[in-house]
Amino acid sequence: MTAKNAAQAAYITGMRPQDILMPVAAGLCCKPGGFHIDPVRPVERAVITHGHSDHARPGHGAVLATQETLDMMRLRYGEHFARSTQAIGYGEQIRLGDVSVKFHPAGHVLGSAQIAVSCQDICIVASGDYKDAPDPTCAPFEVVPCDVFITEATFGLPVFRHGRAADEVKKLLASVALFPERAHLVGAYSLGKAQRVIALLRAAGYDAPIYLHGAMEKITRYYQSRGVALGDLRMVKGMKKADLAGTITLAPPSATSDVWTRRFPDPVTAFASGWMRVRARARQRGVELPLVISDHADWDGLTATIEATGAGEIWVTHGQEDALVHWCTARGLAARPLDLVGYGDEDEGDAVPASEDEEA
Ligand SMILES: [Zn+2]
Repeated sequence: MTAKNAAQAAYITGMRPQDILMPVAAGLCCKPGGFHIDPVRPVERAVITHGHSDHARPGHGAVLATQETLDMMRLRYGEHFARSTQAIGYGEQIRLGDVSVKFHPAGHVLGSAQIAVSCQDICIVASGDYKDAPDPTCAPFEVVPCDVFITEATFGLPVFRHGRAADEVKKLLASVALFPERAHLVGAYSLGKAQRVIALLRAAGYDAPIYLHGAMEKITRYYQSRGVALGDLRMVKGMKKADLAGTITLAPPSATSDVWTRRFPDPVTAFASGWMRVRARARQRGVELPLVISDHADWDGLTATIEATGAGEIWVTHGQEDALVHWCTARGLAARPLDLVGYGDEDEGDAVPASEDEEA
Protein backbone atom coordinates (compact mmCIF):
# COMPACT_ATOMS: atom_id res chain seq x y z
CA MET A 1 0.00 0.00 0.00
CA THR A 2 1.40 3.40 -0.90
CA ALA A 3 1.54 6.13 1.69
CA LYS A 4 -1.25 7.92 -0.09
CA ASN A 5 -3.48 4.82 -0.08
CA ALA A 6 -2.73 4.23 3.58
CA ALA A 7 -3.79 7.76 4.36
CA GLN A 8 -6.98 7.28 2.38
CA ALA A 9 -7.70 4.02 4.20
CA ALA A 10 -7.28 5.71 7.58
CA TYR A 11 -9.57 8.44 6.33
CA ILE A 12 -12.30 5.95 5.39
CA THR A 13 -11.98 3.75 8.47
CA GLY A 14 -12.11 6.58 10.95
CA MET A 15 -10.41 9.79 11.78
CA ARG A 16 -8.58 10.97 14.80
CA PRO A 17 -9.43 14.41 16.20
CA GLN A 18 -6.03 15.73 15.13
CA ASP A 19 -6.87 14.80 11.53
CA ILE A 20 -9.83 17.18 11.74
CA LEU A 21 -8.31 20.17 13.52
CA MET A 22 -4.65 20.86 13.92
CA PRO A 23 -2.61 23.84 15.10
CA VAL A 24 -0.43 25.33 12.37
CA ALA A 25 1.37 28.67 12.10
CA ALA A 26 -1.71 30.39 10.66
CA GLY A 27 -3.99 29.12 13.44
CA LEU A 28 -6.26 26.13 13.92
CA CYS A 29 -6.44 24.36 10.59
CA CYS A 30 -9.26 22.09 9.43
CA LYS A 31 -7.80 20.22 6.49
CA PRO A 32 -10.85 18.11 5.59
CA GLY A 33 -12.99 21.26 5.69
CA GLY A 34 -10.48 23.50 3.90
CA PHE A 35 -10.55 26.34 6.44
CA HIS A 36 -8.80 27.85 9.48
CA ILE A 37 -10.49 28.97 12.69
CA ASP A 38 -9.51 32.51 13.83
CA PRO A 39 -6.40 32.55 11.62
CA VAL A 40 -3.63 34.95 12.60
CA ARG A 41 -2.32 35.10 9.03
CA PRO A 42 -4.25 35.67 5.80
CA VAL A 43 -5.85 32.41 4.55
CA GLU A 44 -8.17 31.34 1.73
CA ARG A 45 -11.12 30.52 4.01
CA ALA A 46 -11.51 31.70 7.61
CA VAL A 47 -14.15 30.74 10.15
CA ILE A 48 -14.19 33.32 12.92
CA THR A 49 -15.44 33.02 16.51
CA HIS A 50 -15.78 36.69 17.47
CA GLY A 51 -14.83 40.27 16.68
CA HIS A 52 -11.84 40.89 18.98
CA SER A 53 -8.86 41.85 16.88
CA ASP A 54 -6.64 38.92 17.83
CA HIS A 55 -9.30 36.50 16.51
CA ALA A 56 -10.82 38.54 13.68
CA ARG A 57 -8.15 39.83 11.36
CA PRO A 58 -8.43 41.40 7.91
CA GLY A 59 -7.10 40.05 4.62
CA HIS A 60 -8.69 36.62 4.30
CA GLY A 61 -10.32 35.25 1.15
CA ALA A 62 -13.70 34.04 2.40
CA VAL A 63 -14.94 34.67 5.94
CA LEU A 64 -17.70 32.73 7.69
CA ALA A 65 -18.94 34.28 10.97
CA THR A 66 -22.06 35.57 12.68
CA GLN A 67 -23.61 38.74 11.24
CA GLU A 68 -22.45 40.71 14.31
CA THR A 69 -18.85 39.54 13.96
CA LEU A 70 -18.84 40.42 10.26
CA ASP A 71 -20.31 43.85 11.05
CA MET A 72 -17.67 44.49 13.73
CA MET A 73 -14.92 43.55 11.29
CA ARG A 74 -16.44 45.93 8.76
CA LEU A 75 -16.57 48.72 11.35
CA ARG A 76 -12.94 48.19 12.28
CA TYR A 77 -11.31 47.33 8.97
CA GLY A 78 -13.61 48.87 6.36
CA GLU A 79 -15.79 47.39 3.64
CA HIS A 80 -13.04 45.34 1.98
CA PHE A 81 -11.76 43.40 4.99
CA ALA A 82 -12.24 40.08 3.10
CA ARG A 83 -12.85 38.98 -0.47
CA SER A 84 -16.22 37.50 0.41
CA THR A 85 -18.30 36.97 3.55
CA GLN A 86 -21.04 34.62 4.66
CA ALA A 87 -23.16 35.14 7.76
CA ILE A 88 -24.26 32.17 9.84
CA GLY A 89 -26.74 32.17 12.74
CA TYR A 90 -26.56 30.27 16.04
CA GLY A 91 -27.81 26.71 15.60
CA GLU A 92 -27.34 26.84 11.86
CA GLN A 93 -25.30 24.06 10.30
CA ILE A 94 -23.40 24.20 7.05
CA ARG A 95 -21.20 21.81 5.15
CA LEU A 96 -17.61 22.79 4.35
CA GLY A 97 -15.68 20.15 2.43
CA ASP A 98 -15.91 16.88 4.36
CA VAL A 99 -17.01 18.42 7.66
CA SER A 100 -20.06 20.18 8.98
CA VAL A 101 -19.83 23.35 11.01
CA LYS A 102 -22.35 24.66 13.50
CA PHE A 103 -22.24 27.90 15.54
CA HIS A 104 -23.33 28.16 19.19
CA PRO A 105 -23.34 31.20 21.52
CA ALA A 106 -20.12 31.69 23.53
CA GLY A 107 -21.41 34.41 25.90
CA HIS A 108 -18.19 36.41 25.43
CA VAL A 109 -19.28 39.49 23.44
CA LEU A 110 -22.12 40.31 21.03
CA GLY A 111 -22.06 37.79 18.16
CA SER A 112 -19.42 35.56 19.76
CA ALA A 113 -19.64 31.89 18.86
CA GLN A 114 -18.25 28.48 19.64
CA ILE A 115 -17.70 26.50 16.48
CA ALA A 116 -18.63 22.83 16.46
CA VAL A 117 -16.80 20.91 13.73
CA SER A 118 -18.14 17.42 13.00
CA CYS A 119 -16.60 14.83 10.76
CA GLN A 120 -17.85 11.26 10.59
CA ASP A 121 -18.59 10.45 14.23
CA ILE A 122 -16.25 12.96 15.90
CA CYS A 123 -17.37 16.37 17.14
CA ILE A 124 -14.82 18.99 18.18
CA VAL A 125 -15.92 22.28 19.70
CA ALA A 126 -13.59 25.26 19.33
CA SER A 127 -15.01 27.63 21.91
CA GLY A 128 -12.87 30.69 21.16
CA ASP A 129 -13.12 33.04 24.14
CA TYR A 130 -16.13 32.34 26.36
CA LYS A 131 -17.78 32.97 29.68
CA ASP A 132 -20.62 31.25 31.47
CA ALA A 133 -21.48 34.30 33.60
CA PRO A 134 -24.61 36.32 32.73
CA ASP A 135 -24.16 39.24 30.33
CA PRO A 136 -27.13 41.36 29.25
CA THR A 137 -25.38 42.39 26.02
CA CYS A 138 -25.05 39.00 24.34
CA ALA A 139 -26.65 35.58 23.96
CA PRO A 140 -25.86 33.28 26.92
CA PHE A 141 -23.14 30.63 26.66
CA GLU A 142 -24.47 27.27 25.55
CA VAL A 143 -22.95 23.95 26.62
CA VAL A 144 -22.31 21.89 23.48
CA PRO A 145 -21.79 18.16 24.08
CA CYS A 146 -18.73 17.00 22.14
CA ASP A 147 -15.84 14.55 22.00
CA VAL A 148 -13.07 17.13 22.06
CA PHE A 149 -13.48 20.52 23.72
CA ILE A 150 -11.02 23.28 22.93
CA THR A 151 -10.97 25.70 25.83
CA GLU A 152 -9.30 29.02 26.45
CA ALA A 153 -7.36 29.41 29.70
CA THR A 154 -6.99 33.17 30.16
CA PHE A 155 -7.92 32.79 33.84
CA GLY A 156 -6.89 29.14 34.14
CA LEU A 157 -5.65 29.27 37.72
CA PRO A 158 -7.67 28.45 40.86
CA VAL A 159 -6.87 31.93 42.23
CA PHE A 160 -9.13 33.47 39.60
CA ARG A 161 -12.70 33.66 40.84
CA HIS A 162 -14.46 36.67 39.38
CA GLY A 163 -17.50 36.97 41.66
CA ARG A 164 -20.65 38.73 40.51
CA ALA A 165 -20.19 41.59 38.04
CA ALA A 166 -23.33 43.24 39.46
CA ASP A 167 -21.59 43.59 42.85
CA GLU A 168 -18.61 45.31 41.23
CA VAL A 169 -20.94 47.81 39.57
CA LYS A 170 -22.50 48.51 42.98
CA LYS A 171 -19.00 49.45 44.20
CA LEU A 172 -18.71 51.91 41.34
CA LEU A 173 -22.09 53.46 42.13
CA ALA A 174 -21.22 53.71 45.83
CA SER A 175 -18.06 55.61 44.88
CA VAL A 176 -20.04 57.96 42.62
CA ALA A 177 -22.43 58.67 45.52
CA LEU A 178 -19.51 59.23 47.89
CA PHE A 179 -17.62 61.64 45.63
CA PRO A 180 -20.22 63.78 43.82
CA GLU A 181 -17.60 66.45 43.05
CA ARG A 182 -15.31 64.03 41.20
CA ALA A 183 -15.64 62.40 37.78
CA HIS A 184 -15.48 58.60 37.51
CA LEU A 185 -13.40 57.30 34.64
CA VAL A 186 -13.89 53.61 33.91
CA GLY A 187 -11.28 51.91 31.73
CA ALA A 188 -12.98 49.14 29.78
CA TYR A 189 -12.15 47.42 26.54
CA SER A 190 -14.11 49.07 23.69
CA LEU A 191 -15.67 45.92 22.26
CA GLY A 192 -17.86 44.13 24.74
CA LYS A 193 -16.63 45.17 28.16
CA ALA A 194 -17.67 48.81 27.88
CA GLN A 195 -21.18 47.93 26.72
CA ARG A 196 -21.54 45.30 29.42
CA VAL A 197 -20.54 47.77 32.14
CA ILE A 198 -23.08 50.27 30.78
CA ALA A 199 -25.82 47.61 30.70
CA LEU A 200 -24.95 46.56 34.26
CA LEU A 201 -25.15 50.19 35.42
CA ARG A 202 -28.62 50.44 33.84
CA ALA A 203 -29.68 47.16 35.44
CA ALA A 204 -28.57 48.58 38.80
CA GLY A 205 -30.97 51.51 38.26
CA TYR A 206 -28.46 54.17 37.17
CA ASP A 207 -30.35 56.27 34.62
CA ALA A 208 -28.20 59.42 34.29
CA PRO A 209 -26.38 60.00 31.00
CA ILE A 210 -23.21 57.92 30.64
CA TYR A 211 -20.29 59.51 28.80
CA LEU A 212 -18.07 57.88 26.20
CA HIS A 213 -14.54 58.38 24.95
CA GLY A 214 -14.59 58.94 21.17
CA ALA A 215 -12.96 55.54 20.49
CA MET A 216 -16.03 53.79 21.91
CA GLU A 217 -18.69 55.54 19.91
CA LYS A 218 -18.92 53.43 16.74
CA ILE A 219 -19.00 50.05 18.43
CA THR A 220 -21.35 51.18 21.20
CA ARG A 221 -23.79 52.69 18.70
CA TYR A 222 -23.57 49.38 16.84
CA TYR A 223 -24.61 47.48 19.98
CA GLN A 224 -27.58 49.84 20.31
CA SER A 225 -28.52 49.23 16.66
CA ARG A 226 -28.65 45.49 17.44
CA GLY A 227 -31.22 46.12 20.16
CA VAL A 228 -28.95 46.20 23.22
CA ALA A 229 -30.54 48.79 25.57
CA LEU A 230 -27.85 51.12 26.92
CA GLY A 231 -29.88 54.25 27.78
CA ASP A 232 -28.73 57.85 27.32
CA LEU A 233 -25.15 57.89 26.04
CA ARG A 234 -23.21 61.07 25.33
CA MET A 235 -19.77 61.95 24.09
CA VAL A 236 -17.22 63.51 26.43
CA LYS A 237 -15.89 65.71 23.65
CA GLY A 238 -17.09 69.27 24.00
CA MET A 239 -18.19 68.88 27.64
CA LYS A 240 -17.09 71.48 30.16
CA LYS A 241 -14.85 70.14 32.92
CA ALA A 242 -17.15 71.30 35.72
CA ASP A 243 -20.14 69.60 34.11
CA LEU A 244 -18.40 66.21 34.34
CA ALA A 245 -18.44 66.24 38.16
CA GLY A 246 -20.51 63.34 39.46
CA THR A 247 -20.63 61.63 36.05
CA ILE A 248 -19.40 58.24 34.76
CA THR A 249 -17.28 58.02 31.60
CA LEU A 250 -16.22 54.83 29.82
CA ALA A 251 -12.85 54.97 28.08
CA PRO A 252 -10.28 52.55 26.61
CA PRO A 253 -7.93 51.42 29.39
CA SER A 254 -4.93 53.18 27.82
CA ALA A 255 -6.76 56.55 27.82
CA THR A 256 -7.34 56.49 31.57
CA SER A 257 -3.66 57.04 32.24
CA ASP A 258 -2.83 59.77 29.74
CA VAL A 259 -3.25 63.51 29.37
CA TRP A 260 -6.81 62.98 28.18
CA THR A 261 -7.86 62.60 31.83
CA ARG A 262 -7.03 66.26 32.52
CA ARG A 263 -10.41 67.29 31.15
CA PHE A 264 -12.10 65.63 34.15
CA PRO A 265 -12.47 67.14 37.62
CA ASP A 266 -10.29 65.13 40.06
CA PRO A 267 -11.06 61.82 38.32
CA VAL A 268 -11.45 58.52 40.18
CA THR A 269 -9.83 55.95 37.90
CA ALA A 270 -11.51 52.56 37.69
CA PHE A 271 -10.66 49.58 35.49
CA ALA A 272 -13.06 46.75 34.64
CA SER A 273 -11.05 43.57 34.09
CA GLY A 274 -10.66 40.06 35.43
CA TRP A 275 -7.03 41.01 36.13
CA MET A 276 -8.20 43.41 38.83
CA ARG A 277 -8.35 40.39 41.12
CA VAL A 278 -4.58 40.80 41.26
CA ARG A 279 -3.92 43.84 43.47
CA ALA A 280 -0.41 44.36 42.14
CA ARG A 281 -1.82 44.84 38.62
CA ALA A 282 -4.26 47.48 39.82
CA ARG A 283 -1.48 49.30 41.68
CA GLN A 284 0.85 49.07 38.71
CA ARG A 285 -1.74 50.73 36.48
CA GLY A 286 -2.56 53.39 39.05
CA VAL A 287 -6.14 52.16 39.31
CA GLU A 288 -7.93 53.64 42.29
CA LEU A 289 -11.08 51.57 41.95
CA PRO A 290 -10.45 48.05 40.56
CA LEU A 291 -13.59 46.34 39.24
CA VAL A 292 -13.33 42.58 38.76
CA ILE A 293 -15.47 42.23 35.64
CA SER A 294 -14.32 39.76 33.02
CA ASP A 295 -15.64 38.49 29.71
CA HIS A 296 -13.70 35.25 30.19
CA ALA A 297 -14.71 32.29 32.32
CA ASP A 298 -12.97 32.09 35.69
CA TRP A 299 -11.45 28.90 37.12
CA ASP A 300 -14.80 27.58 38.30
CA GLY A 301 -16.41 28.49 34.98
CA LEU A 302 -13.68 26.76 32.97
CA THR A 303 -13.75 23.54 34.99
CA ALA A 304 -17.57 23.39 35.21
CA THR A 305 -17.82 23.91 31.45
CA ILE A 306 -15.24 21.23 30.68
CA GLU A 307 -17.22 18.75 32.77
CA ALA A 308 -20.56 19.79 31.28
CA THR A 309 -19.45 19.19 27.69
CA GLY A 310 -18.85 15.52 28.49
CA ALA A 311 -15.75 15.65 26.29
CA GLY A 312 -13.15 12.95 26.93
CA GLU A 313 -10.39 15.03 25.44
CA ILE A 314 -9.55 18.66 26.21
CA TRP A 315 -7.25 20.93 24.26
CA VAL A 316 -6.20 23.99 26.22
CA THR A 317 -5.09 27.22 24.59
CA HIS A 318 -4.27 30.90 25.12
CA GLY A 319 -3.50 31.58 28.74
CA GLN A 320 -2.51 29.51 31.73
CA GLU A 321 -2.66 26.08 30.10
CA ASP A 322 -0.69 24.04 32.63
CA ALA A 323 -3.00 24.13 35.65
CA LEU A 324 -6.04 23.33 33.55
CA VAL A 325 -4.30 20.47 31.73
CA HIS A 326 -3.29 19.10 35.13
CA TRP A 327 -6.85 19.44 36.46
CA CYS A 328 -8.17 17.49 33.44
CA THR A 329 -5.59 14.70 33.65
CA ALA A 330 -6.28 14.26 37.37
CA ARG A 331 -9.88 13.55 36.39
CA GLY A 332 -8.97 10.98 33.79
CA LEU A 333 -9.51 13.26 30.80
CA ALA A 334 -6.99 13.30 28.00
CA ALA A 335 -5.68 16.85 27.89
CA ARG A 336 -2.94 18.79 26.19
CA PRO A 337 -1.91 22.38 25.62
CA LEU A 338 -2.44 23.58 22.06
CA ASP A 339 0.48 25.48 20.73
CA LEU A 340 -1.27 28.46 19.20
CA VAL A 341 0.42 31.83 19.00
CA GLY A 342 -0.92 35.29 18.32
CA TYR A 343 -3.82 35.43 20.75
CA GLY A 344 -3.93 37.68 23.78
CA ASP A 345 -6.31 38.93 26.35
CA GLU A 346 -8.06 42.06 25.19
CA ASP A 347 -7.62 43.76 28.58
CA GLU A 348 -3.88 43.33 28.40
CA GLY A 349 -1.57 44.80 25.80
CA ASP A 350 -2.77 47.93 24.11
CA ALA A 351 -6.50 47.74 24.13
CA VAL A 352 -7.15 49.87 21.09
CA PRO A 353 -5.01 50.64 18.06
CA ALA A 354 -3.40 54.07 18.31
CA SER A 355 -5.66 55.46 15.60
CA GLU A 356 -8.81 54.45 17.48
CA ASP A 357 -7.40 55.66 20.75
CA GLU A 358 -7.43 59.28 19.69
CA GLU A 359 -10.60 61.00 20.50
CA ALA A 360 -12.68 61.39 17.40
ZN1 LIG B 1 -12.14 37.86 22.91
